[in-house]
Amino acid sequence: MNQGVQLRNITKRYGLVTAIDNVSLDIRDNEFFALLGPSGCGKTTLLRTLAGFETPQEGQVIVAGQNVTNIRPSRRPLNLMFQSYALFPHMSVEKNIAYGLEMEKLPKDEIATRVAEVLESAKLSGFAGRKPDQLSGGQRQRVALARALVKRPKVLLLDEPLSALDKKLREEMQLELKRLQHEVGITFLIVTHDQEEALVMADRIAVLHDGKLAQVGTPHELYEHPGSRFVADFIGVMNFLNGNAVDGGVDVDGAGMLRGVSELRGAATIAVRPERVSLMQTAPQDGRNCLPGTVEEVAYHGSDLGVHVRVRGGRSTLSARVPAGQADRESIQPGQDVYCVWDAKHSRILPNC
Ligand code: ATP
Repeated sequence: MNQGVQLRNITKRYGLVTAIDNVSLDIRDNEFFALLGPSGCGKTTLLRTLAGFETPQEGQVIVAGQNVTNIRPSRRPLNLMFQSYALFPHMSVEKNIAYGLEMEKLPKDEIATRVAEVLESAKLSGFAGRKPDQLSGGQRQRVALARALVKRPKVLLLDEPLSALDKKLREEMQLELKRLQHEVGITFLIVTHDQEEALVMADRIAVLHDGKLAQVGTPHELYEHPGSRFVADFIGVMNFLNGNAVDGGVDVDGAGMLRGVSELRGAATIAVRPERVSLMQTAPQDGRNCLPGTVEEVAYHGSDLGVHVRVRGGRSTLSARVPAGQADRESIQPGQDVYCVWDAKHSRILPNC
């Protein structure tokens, strides 16, 4: 039996607003799954529907093989960790974690064993007696996690769990969450608007756009094979050049024919990641895509530079990421003429929508 989560044709409307529009998803047992999309795309609504705080007008929610669509939140085999953590300020870490089990009236020794276990996995053993206001942001976040995990849900739902943390701590906690998920072996479903966070943590990602499912895939699939301009643009940084697709290439005004991966025809966009674009002093004669242009701006990023090139003809710009060493050797600077070069297999031809 599938222990994961299935969402079948979920539609959720608020008056005239369709927050979720016929979304179906199959989340596997023990998977770290991310719901990703810009503000207002319906991520939280979908999560709340799954948790049972919202009732969809259409569709079904199946958790661990059980249809829970009409079952109230507390009876579903899942647990939601709130964005705000919602810790009790007057209770110690240990009491905060034990609270849910005490409500269930479990025997005292079982509560003690389970609390000790999660304190250990969340690396909180030394903090059991502290109150939430005596903890750092990252520690508070771990208490909230421990409190959700101690109830041993089949699925843990996390709504923007790292949004209150600063960048460095967030990056640490991303790895920490991944470790914890491996260790406890349950399904994690996380909501985030941060594509980098989703790429780092998730086994698979669903990208939502205006309440609809835009694409589902592994981080690698979404990054390397985005199915639409929206996904290509939302995940990572992408260059787009507009034109007309014919015979496996795109005829870009003023730039000639550029090749890429696709069977499309008609109005199309050719997309290439900045890190796939090399800058050369002379045009290669080996069939790679090549666009002449002039360096417009150079941005310092530490290990590499972001170079913005105005394509000859003036209509488009293209970004390239150049390793700092190469940029030093060739002293790349504004005003310089260059060729932007990339392999056809690294560009994708996408429909113009
Ligand atoms: P964010 O990242 O900003 O939290 P989100 O992707 O989680 O956004 P939702 O909160 O799910 O988006 O909202 C989806 C759409 O549904 C939005 O247009 C929102 O305005 C609308 N919406 C959400 N909740 C309600 C509600 N209770 N009543 C009316 N409209 C709502």
